[in-house]
Parts: sequence; C-alpha cells; structure tokens
Amino acid sequence: MRIANINGRLALILESGAVDVAKASHDRFAADPQAVFDRWVEFREWAAELPDSPVHTLTYHDEDLRAPAPSPRQVFGIGLNYHAHAEETALEIPDFPHAFTKFPCCITGPDALVSLVSGSVDWEVELVVVIGVGGHAIAEADAWSHVAGLTVGQDLSEREFMLHSRPWPQISLGKSHPGFGPIGPYLVTPDEFADPNDLAISCSLNGKTVQDARTREMIFNVPALIDKLSSIVTLWPGDVIFTGTPDGVGVAQKPPRFLQPGDTLLSTIEEIGTLRTRFG
Ligand code: ZN
Repeated sequence: MRIANINGRLALILESGAVDVAKASHDRFAADPQAVFDRWVEFREWAAELPDSPVHTLTYHDEDLRAPAPSPRQVFGIGLNYHAHAEETALEIPDFPHAFTKFPCCITGPDALVSLVSGSVDWEVELVVVIGVGGHAIAEADAWSHVAGLTVGQDLSEREFMLHSRPWPQISLGKSHPGFGPIGPYLVTPDEFADPNDLAISCSLNGKTVQDARTREMIFNVPALIDKLSSIVTLWPGDVIFTGTPDGVGVAQKPPRFLQPGDTLLSTIEEIGTLRTRFG
C-alpha cells in the first residue's frame, strides 16, 4: 500500500488514481494525514478491502504532495549508521545507535524550497521510517509489524554550528532549521518491498550523483534501530525515524562542498520515489 499527503488530505494511491480517504471512508478516517497513524491497523484493514475503482479520486501534480507524516510527535535521527560514512567522517563505529532529534518543526514536503541559513548546509539522503503501532521494548523480530511505512528523507545539516559549537556539538539544533527535514513523496508499506532491508538509495546535486548506496549497508538496520531505540524511549504512532546517511556528504569532500543558492538535490530510494529539494 502506498499513501500520500495531497494538499493536506490523506490519499491512498491505487492503480486507478489517488483516493481521498476521508471521502471514500465517509469520514470514518480523518483527512489529516497525521491522524491515520493513531488508527493504523484499522486503516490498513479498511484500505485492503477498498475496491480499486475511480471514486473519490483526487487529481494531483507532484507539487501538490506534502510530507506523508507532517506533524510527528517525535523525530529521531541516527548518526554514523553506514560504515563508509563513519569512515569518511573519521569517527568510530558506534556500538549503540547514535540518536538525536530533528525537532518536528523542520519537517517539510517532497518538493520544497529551503532557505540556506549559512554557507555550510550539507545534504544527507536517508531512508525514513514512520511508526504505525507504537510501543516500548519492541523486539527486533517484531519490529517490522510496528512500521507503517518507508519514505525518503533529507537530513539537512548546518555543519558549522552543529559541529563547532562549544563546549559540545549541537547536533539536534543544527539539523532543525525550517525545512531541514523534507520527507516523501509517498509512504510505502513494508510488504510492498521484496526486501525492505535492502533498497537502493541515492542523491544527486544539480544532476551529479553524490551519494549511491544500499540500505543493507546500515550498521543498525531498521529492526535493530526500533529494538534499540524502544529499549529506552516509547515510540508513538506517527513518529519518524531518519535512519542515517551513506557516504558522499558535502563536508567529507575535498575540499568540502556545501549547498549554494540555486542548487537542486534529488534524493531517491527505489520503489518509493524521489524528493526534490531546491535551495535559496
Ligand atoms: Zn543524518
């Protein structure tokens, strides 16, 4: 199943088109795309029974798509979760996921214009998980059943403030400026993938590929992240997890290359789609 946020309304994407969920369900489910995660199991059952016919369809263009989880209660970010990225930053491999938050106000949609707050804003393409069924102490073996779906994200990062604040780095604030968390374009349920632990992930800057990897290269894969995070915090429906970036970020280039006004990033994960993020 594939869902989307079309101009603020929850939509189910079927072969016949995008179905307006509130209308097709006669208001059993709200139009608010964030509200569906609180009733995820019920929604999945309803959606599975819905005939694929062109009723209550929404006509839309790419620029009408918004973040599929636009107002999560919690947003987790994971640092150093790919070996090659840990190597390029010359940091040790973590023995527990290195977690921070991107404050939820930074979430934006899949076709965004983001203001550069300085000359050291960097890209990080990431697989993003949205939680469907919350919980505490979720076992790795059960973790996929707690996932609503997967989407594409950019963990935009202002490196100067983030890395060089004294006396400690300011990871969370440095990644939470307005628009620093684009996600989308669709949320795809785990059962849609041949192997949800092994997806091609890439990012191009002005047409040139800068990141190109597979999610199986993660140090802690999605089930391991859910197990480890939920051993400490309670995960709630609709929470968002940015699962870490592969190698190829700007700060590691020689010389470092940061985003400039006029740049366009395309961030792609197979079977999900592409985010387009422009900078001004
Ligand atoms: Zn990141």
